[in-house]
Amino acid sequence: MAMSVQPDQRRPALVVIEHEHDTTGQDRIADQLRRRYGGDYDVVDERSGAAGLTTLESMRERGLQVALVLCDQPPSGSAATDAVFGQVKQLYPEAKRALVVDWGAWADRETADAIHRLIALGKIDYYALRPWRTPDEYFHRTVTEFLLEWERAVSAAPREVTVVAQRWSPRAHELRSLLVRNGVQHQFHPSDTDEGRSALASAGLEDTTAPVILLHDGRVLVDPTNSQLADAYGVSTTLGDETDFDLIVVGAGPAGLAAAVYASSEGLRTLVVERESIGGQAGSSSLIRNYLGFARGISGAELAQRAYQQAWVFGTTFLLMNELVDLTDEDGWHVLTAADGQQARARAVVLATGVSYRRIGVPSLEAFAGAGVFYGASVSEARAMAGEPVYVVGGGNSAGQAAMYLSRYAGSVTLLVRGASLAESMSQYLIDAIDAAGIRVRLRTEVVDGGGAGRLAWIELRDRETGRTRTEPATGLFVLIGAEPHTDWLPERIERDQWGYLLTGPDVMESHAAQRWPLDRQPLMLETCVPGVFAVGDVRRRSVKRVASAVGEGSVVIQQVHQVIAAADRP
Ligand SMILES: Cc1cc2nc3c(=O)[nH]c(=O)nc-3n(C[C@H](O)[C@H](O)[C@H](O)COP(=O)(O)OP(=O)(O)OC[C@H]3O[C@@H](n4cnc5c(N)ncnc54)[C@H](O)[C@@H]3O)c2cc1C
Repeated sequence: MAMSVQPDQRRPALVVIEHEHDTTGQDRIADQLRRRYGGDYDVVDERSGAAGLTTLESMRERGLQVALVLCDQPPSGSAATDAVFGQVKQLYPEAKRALVVDWGAWADRETADAIHRLIALGKIDYYALRPWRTPDEYFHRTVTEFLLEWERAVSAAPREVTVVAQRWSPRAHELRSLLVRNGVQHQFHPSDTDEGRSALASAGLEDTTAPVILLHDGRVLVDPTNSQLADAYGVSTTLGDETDFDLIVVGAGPAGLAAAVYASSEGLRTLVVERESIGGQAGSSSLIRNYLGFARGISGAELAQRAYQQAWVFGTTFLLMNELVDLTDEDGWHVLTAADGQQARARAVVLATGVSYRRIGVPSLEAFAGAGVFYGASVSEARAMAGEPVYVVGGGNSAGQAAMYLSRYAGSVTLLVRGASLAESMSQYLIDAIDAAGIRVRLRTEVVDGGGAGRLAWIELRDRETGRTRTEPATGLFVLIGAEPHTDWLPERIERDQWGYLLTGPDVMESHAAQRWPLDRQPLMLETCVPGVFAVGDVRRRSVKRVASAVGEGSVVIQQVHQVIAAADRP
């Protein structure tokens, strides 16, 4: 039986399913939530999974919004909780879901297993500790964080920026992606909807077919360039009078942002140049779950925003939407030139330009990037594939390693290879291991389509020899068809390996570039073959290709930058 008043049509609801309640102790969770959030949310209180599901079904039929579902373990055990959260996820996939456990219950094996399993299967976002005092601010912090995440991702509340454009306009997609990656909240109205027409009319642009951006302060941009859009929300795309720096960092992915934070905090005048938006590859990750300190995971855009603000507060200068196209040396300075001709110079340079994974190139699959389609090994996703059908695309060693890793969790793993043989591209030991692990290998096969409701559920495979196609259920598609480092623009004298990755430290001295090394000292660990020019993160040969390792390298390189600058200043 629902204990709350009927939910309001306009307000999102918080739904609590609390089976067990010690009447001698605290108020019911729903009462605590009502006191704190009752002004903005409806709180629905149920006492069994079945009642909770009936209420949620009825709320869905009435088109009500649900922001959060909290449910504790029923006395009958965790199988019932699995079933309840599974159905809640189907009814309200966007709602935040958390298992409520008692303080200390994590020591209980069954509870711990339930938490791990439910998170791995994506049935809950996290767990919450049952409040044991009033007010329990720790409990409320968990709830508030859920509500913030829900609000940012889903709610229909007004946003800072409104984009109005034709529904499938590629340019509008680019502009929206730029906003998302820069952490700018926006709403999108196709121009043929009532909301779209009304927004265009409010700006006197009824007949406009180009994308229109309306800012909450009244400014209107019609078909803006990336730079105009960036300027409008306060991101700097031109250099001011200051063009001399101690350090220029190229690339604002995790490695570059870490370098900026450490350099600026240690007093180096630092410029970061980024050709797109901050965050790099990580910025496109919907949830990074293996970065230290973020147990519930953090979106790449959110992590990048925090790092950007941290660097900015320490005094880093940013030049965004500017691609660097040249690096020269003049009078002891490293001079960097951007595509639009702007120049800046510094005593040291950190190259943090990362890589791009080759894309699968199938639009229906691109739509599921991060929602079942993953680029790179995405080890953090492996547990979520427990018991599920998983496909790995690629015939190289990285694809083989990913398939092996995934086979520890997935119900089945299939390797999809375009070529006629694995031996052409994969080491024999891996081929043997794949065979022993029972991983299916489909040769001469490519993925041509895929779909699902909100996340990937099926893919279509095509036999390249016969042209025959077949559709198969798929929860995960891991694409490992090669990564390309962003080093084409660098002068030839900066040594790289056959794939374009930059050589640093000992690797320099083992290459042809050793003869050109001009100093008595050896190159420092992260230094390229040009003294004072460093490489960190994914662009560096032998890098680990993870957010944490990119951040680690970006942090430690600054100590080496200090050494180089100090030596340059010595008479
Ligand atoms: C979809 C996805 C999900 C991922 N999930 C995880 C995860 O869950 N956990 C994890 O640990 N790792 C994950 N990774 C890997 C992780 O994101 C990378 O290892 C990490 O971002 C590397 O950081 P980086 O700074 O070295 O390079 P990048 O992130 O690639 O950043 C490089 C930046 O340099 C800029 N740049 C390049 N050339 C130029 C130029 N000439 N001028 C100016 N700017 C330039 C680029 O635009 C880019 O912004 C994921 C990767 C992807 C693609």
